[in-house]
Amino acid sequence: MSQILEEVLTANAAYASSFDPGELPMPPARHFAILTCMDARLDPAKYAGLSEGDAHVIRNAGGRASDDAIRSLVISYKLLGTREWFVIHHTDCGMETFTDEVMRGLLASSLKTSSVDATGWHDSGDGPGSTEGNYIDWLTIGNNAASVIEDVSRIRDHPLVPNEIPIYGYIYDVRSGELVEVPDATRAGAARN
Ligand SMILES: [Zn+2]
Repeated sequence: MSQILEEVLTANAAYASSFDPGELPMPPARHFAILTCMDARLDPAKYAGLSEGDAHVIRNAGGRASDDAIRSLVISYKLLGTREWFVIHHTDCGMETFTDEVMRGLLASSLKTSSVDATGWHDSGDGPGSTEGNYIDWLTIGNNAASVIEDVSRIRDHPLVPNEIPIYGYIYDVRSGELVEVPDATRAGAARN
């Protein structure tokens, strides 16, 4: 068994042994959802004060409003009753360190893990790679505030998203732990009556 697998299963056994089975209902008790980045330094339960059963947390690389993130958000309100949404990107996001072109080149070169230094990303070249990366929009981030505005606006304008759900735009600061509002995003995401 891999060390990680063993660690995870041991941790789970400890968690389950003291688990309070209290019957939590499926719909989030506090009726909101957060779309945020998968970055390991972000813990939405801690930065937003969540307990089990409180809220939906949808995560992907960058916290971007991809079609699949919107799929989850639509299920979140339509079937599970959330009424307010947050889009939360963060400082020092890995998605700011490359472009589609860079990612496609790295993948075409090999499927090994690439390395990064001050001059950018480098691949081992120890192929084979694949050109399948050319068909994926990697949703990289050029400017953090702009990407929050773009994602909030895309969700706001989506035909499956009702006007009355407010969408708030924030950037989490990985150095201070603070959520910093992107006012233009929150404005763009305001409920429309
Ligand atoms: Zn990130």
